[in-house]
Amino acid sequence: MQKITIAVDGYSSCGKSTTAKKVAARLGYSYIDTGAMYRAVTLYFHQHLVTLTNEKEVAKALDNIQIEFRRSLNDGRNETFLNGLNVEDEIRKLYIANQVSEVSAIAEVRHAMVAQQRKMGKKKGVVMDGRDIGTVVFPDAELKIFMTADPIIRANRRQIELNERGDLVDIEEIIENIKKRDLIDTTRKESPLRKADDAIDIDTSYMTLDEQVEMVCILADEALSKAIRK
Ligand code: C5P
Repeated sequence: MQKITIAVDGYSSCGKSTTAKKVAARLGYSYIDTGAMYRAVTLYFHQHLVTLTNEKEVAKALDNIQIEFRRSLNDGRNETFLNGLNVEDEIRKLYIANQVSEVSAIAEVRHAMVAQQRKMGKKKGVVMDGRDIGTVVFPDAELKIFMTADPIIRANRRQIELNERGDLVDIEEIIENIKKRDLIDTTRKESPLRKADDAIDIDTSYMTLDEQVEMVCILADEALSKAIRK
């Protein structure tokens, strides 16, 4: 059966991951959270006190990093493993969110992650979410989505998510983090966050999760039919 590649890019806390995960489940595709990969690298750099400006240290650290996704036996959710250890909860914490954009702006880090992501998605049948999937990782993806949402709504969503994980964080601190990440992600030299010319915009500010999933599934159906006709 023919399958397509679906790239979901956009700002943080627009609903990318939750939507992408549900779309993948509906279509029977695999889901890859590329943000989790950059977060895992950030955790490793943090634990090993890697100096971000030292190319040798960065290259050596990257050689020692192995990232995998495994399905949880408890609830079936995808969990991130760094060198065999489950780091799913740790990488979602705010101290990682506060460092991840600096780490993911490093060219060597991006090259290593992009190479892995291309391998993971080479058989198609994948929904991949991130910042540069439609522009750099899979510029030929049959469907490209670019998600946006009002910054205050994004901050509220992130606060609820952190609360649910037991991380009680002030809304001001979250707004600060979102603003800082947006700025670094959109202005970095290496593959900045930007909408691919052929991506479809979805503003999720006033959409429910079900509506987002429904919309992407309809677009995926259309993109698949188009790919079959080619
Ligand atoms: O998606 P998430 O918010 O977990 O991503 C965390 C950070 O990882 C982003 O703010 C961005 O700096 C980086 N990232 C990236 N490229 C991707 C995915 C994430 O630079 N494809």
